[in-house]
Amino acid sequence: MGMDRRKFMKIAGVSAIGIAGGVQPASKLLAQDPKGVLEKAAPLHAKRWAMVIDLKKRREAEDCVDCINACNKTHNVPDFDSPKDEIKWIWKESFHHAFHEQEIEHTKTELKHGPVMLLCNHCNNPPCVRVCPTQATWKREDDGIVMMDWHRCIGCRYCVAACPYGSRSFNWRDPRPFIDEITEDYPTRTRGVVEKCTFCEERLAKGQLPACVEACKQKAITFGDLEDPDSTVREILESNFSIRRKPTLGTQPEVYYLV
Ligand code: SF4
Repeated sequence: MGMDRRKFMKIAGVSAIGIAGGVQPASKLLAQDPKGVLEKAAPLHAKRWAMVIDLKKRREAEDCVDCINACNKTHNVPDFDSPKDEIKWIWKESFHHAFHEQEIEHTKTELKHGPVMLLCNHCNNPPCVRVCPTQATWKREDDGIVMMDWHRCIGCRYCVAACPYGSRSFNWRDPRPFIDEITEDYPTRTRGVVEKCTFCEERLAKGQLPACVEACKQKAITFGDLEDPDSTVREILESNFSIRRKPTLGTQPEVYYLV
């Protein structure tokens, strides 16, 4: 992953396990020995997970879609090849569309015309959770991730209507025939359920960072614990100007953008 041990621990909060020869980052161990160490890797914990996306770095590789491909492959996201049926976990949007209600006077012109990666904001005050009649979506108390249980989803789409960010997609058709190559260790969904990004909670449980973070060659995405004053996300946010989508709604998104 190209980061030293100290930096990794700051990003992940905790992420090291002891093995012969000393303590090493869990993700490094996973890469080195997927068979032997996978089960033993310590989960990554945080009091409040947050993501920071650097739009200046993103701009340097405007056409790159590595993060989208990694997410889609990891999570069996189908490609319906039809905008009206599209299933989106992380996707590209124009700056103007993503931040259309915000006046950002001093933002460089090239950023304003560049692409922005969007995903579920894992809002601290999520309206989608409040409207779900079956608790198929909920906010985890211990780390703030807004989860989905597809088995409990009845397809009412109240959450889709309640999300002001378009971060939820509904499967109008059976998605499985539209997945290029199914990743066996992640569930597929069925027709009639809603889905969205879950901050790769299944990877965090195995000591791995989110797939999009790992896939980004520009290192434009940083993930860490907002409650930890020594975390890299805190350092970045304290020393850079950042914006969030639709801040006036009071949803308190946990995805920040550096401009
Ligand atoms: Fe819910 Fe939308 Fe916020 Fe995600 S971005 S937590 S789906 S309101």
